[in-house]
Amino acid sequence: MVTSRIPGFYKLPLVERRHAAAEVLGVKVSELESALGLGGFDVKTADKTIENVVGTYALPFALGLNLQMNGRDYLVPMVVEEPSVVAAASNAAKMARAGGGFFAESDEPIMIAQVQLDRVPDVREATRLLIDRKAELCELADRAVPNLIARGGGTRDVIVRDLGEGWLVVHLLVDCRDAMGANLVNTIAEAVSGRIALWTGGRIGLRILSNLADTRCVRIRCAIPPHALVAEGHAGERVRDGIVRASEFASRDPYRAATHNKGIMNGIDPVVIATGNDWRAVEAGAHAFAARSGRYSPLATWRISRGALNEARPAEGEEEGWLVGEMELPLQLGIVGGTLRVHEGARFGLMVSGVETAQELAMLAASMGLASNLAALRALATVGIQKGHMALHARSVAIAAGATGDLVESVALAIFEANNVTVDAARAELMKLTSSFASAAQ
Ligand code: NAD
Repeated sequence: MVTSRIPGFYKLPLVERRHAAAEVLGVKVSELESALGLGGFDVKTADKTIENVVGTYALPFALGLNLQMNGRDYLVPMVVEEPSVVAAASNAAKMARAGGGFFAESDEPIMIAQVQLDRVPDVREATRLLIDRKAELCELADRAVPNLIARGGGTRDVIVRDLGEGWLVVHLLVDCRDAMGANLVNTIAEAVSGRIALWTGGRIGLRILSNLADTRCVRIRCAIPPHALVAEGHAGERVRDGIVRASEFASRDPYRAATHNKGIMNGIDPVVIATGNDWRAVEAGAHAFAARSGRYSPLATWRISRGALNEARPAEGEEEGWLVGEMELPLQLGIVGGTLRVHEGARFGLMVSGVETAQELAMLAASMGLASNLAALRALATVGIQKGHMALHARSVAIAAGATGDLVESVALAIFEANNVTVDAARAELMKLTSSFASAAQ
């Protein structure tokens, strides 16, 4: 059983951190280094993957810690360039542990294939006909993806939507099992479109998946006792109340909801990228889902528990006065096919996650999303976001000013403590430190 608690991990030098990670993961350090060396993607493979390649582009690969989901510990692979995302989410995941971690559930991995028609002479009759012949349509669809059928997936339902003025769209709901499913679903849409046109007399338009994968949602919840929320000089109850107010702000204002949801995606996208998944699909689905009521809304909300006995849906481990976070969003993730075929780093990321199904990966990514949201709201409700962010951002600023090796930490600390995290201040500090080293060496 993997533990996601590795105390002091962030303080270790890189080489020792790699040893500690390899030990927890049960792999050799050489395996880790070979999978992630050169970003896990060599240029020759890259050249076969997309067009017009002239190189590759690396990002940091980190481990998110402390995450517990449905009673199990997970190490979370995270690929992201933004300082403080990994630290903040790991810190919040530790707070959630105090209430038993994250509780997650997932829909079946069902994607939507859209077949669009226009100039349909009789939309009502066409709809009746398509619904009557649903079984025949599903059978035709399944014949296009025999390998998926062999793995237990396949077409589960057909829905017809009237878009007005002779426009009609047929949704085929396809269980993609452990694949993200875009190509599978597109194959199906193309395979059935001729028959649909014949039956309805309409003109065929687009045949492609929908990224608003609202048939493939995950729901995440956590309940946290106030004592676990205490922040420098702020009592737990006060932090809890501040988070609830921040959540209400997001519900009342789309301008805030966008930033609230960006904070959620801070936890989700790094897992999506680290496991070779399509983050544009995930982003499109998340934001379309956030706007499904016609008003852009927060994907996660926070409330104070009135106690399990008083809740409409009694929740595990929840007690009166605890902070409860809840989130629902579509996540179209795969653990087979796509980029995983070609990207060694992504395969390593998937191994790190320890998940066995695409649904489990979606729940894991979403848990990290809710953790990220908690971290951001807690900081905003107390000391403000900049303090934690700047402490970590100071390192990039120090590097930008030319610091290397041990000087990075020294310069970063100095400019952070002086409350002046700028490249100019870092340059001045670097000059001061290097000249004092030089005079000490004379
Ligand atoms: P894919 O084409 O690699 O298909 C998945 C393959 O895995 C299938 O051949 C399937 O038979 C096989 N498979 C093996 N084990 C399986 C299992 N346990 N469960 C299910 N399938 C199994 O990939 P895909 O998932 O169909 O499509 C994903 C790719 O499509 C991504 O690279 C994505 O970027 C891209 N894409 C996305 C969009 C979009 O989101 N709008 C559009 C087009 C393409």
